[in-house]
Amino acid sequence: MSDSRRIGLIGDPVEHSLSPFFQQPALDSLGLDIRYELWPTPLAALPGRLDDLRAGRALGANVTVPHKEAVFAAMDDVSDLALRAGAVNTIVPRNGRLFGDNTDIHGFVVSLREREVRFEELDAIVLGAGGAARGIVVALLNAGVRRIHVLNRTIARAEHLAAALGDDRVRSATSNQAQALASDAGLIVNATSIGWQGHDLPLDPAAFCVMPPAAIAYDLTYRETPYLRAARAAGLATIDGLPMLVHQGARSFELWTGQPAPIDIMWSAALAARAARGD
Ligand code: NDP
Repeated sequence: MSDSRRIGLIGDPVEHSLSPFFQQPALDSLGLDIRYELWPTPLAALPGRLDDLRAGRALGANVTVPHKEAVFAAMDDVSDLALRAGAVNTIVPRNGRLFGDNTDIHGFVVSLREREVRFEELDAIVLGAGGAARGIVVALLNAGVRRIHVLNRTIARAEHLAAALGDDRVRSATSNQAQALASDAGLIVNATSIGWQGHDLPLDPAAFCVMPPAAIAYDLTYRETPYLRAARAAGLATIDGLPMLVHQGARSFELWTGQPAPIDIMWSAALAARAARGD
């Protein structure tokens, strides 16, 4: 196998990632002689990784925390959605240039379409105002959502996000306004980084109890979290981050290989890998 027959995940850290566990079986199932690798990359090493991609020493890359914004800034060309999100999670080398896309956005929307969400009738709450939250807000706007409230512990960041997107469907508020806003919300998304830490919740769970009965609570964290447990206890439907992860990976796979992603193989491999980890 030539050294260029590889795709990597750029981030710091990357060891926790489930991506190799479903990307490699997908590549293998189509008989593609390509390895999916983990590329732990401190910021100082990022230019070298991008040089390798530009020079054709790899077929492509995924990008994760904390480099999505830095990689966006280093691309030669980006998709419209990546431009709006200001973040890139997929790199495709093309004739010595680097094209960046944001397939997290696709993954999020597809995971909601699977639940037959009608975006044009949807009011949503997004908890958090970091890079992940911005991608979710862009995804919802692009899907045609009616209104979004961005709630954050630090209100200035929520205000900044709303202002940066310049769309009057987006409003900002502090996290403790969740209950007052929840009765109209058909979707509430945890896009804070709380899911991976301890037992904290990003909102007062009383907010779940006033949401419409068909509302969905979504957590970008791809495991069971206190947030999802509290939402389920209030009778809400829930979605964790695994469907989004798999669908973003499927779109990335198609960008790199030009072939339809074997989504069923990816999904069962991701479920098995998560179960093996005990998450
Ligand atoms: P950032 O560090 O940019 O932002 C973190 C956000 O979490 C901020 O809004 C911050 O609020 C909030 N926050 C952190 N700690 C607390 C706390 N104790 N109480 C209340 N709010 C808190 O992170 P990202 O946006 O890059 O990532 C957020 C999460 O999304 C990560 O867990 C990441 O793994 C996940 N993600 C999942 C994806 C998937 O495919 N499933 C894709 C992309 C991201 P404040 O501004 O007040 O500090």
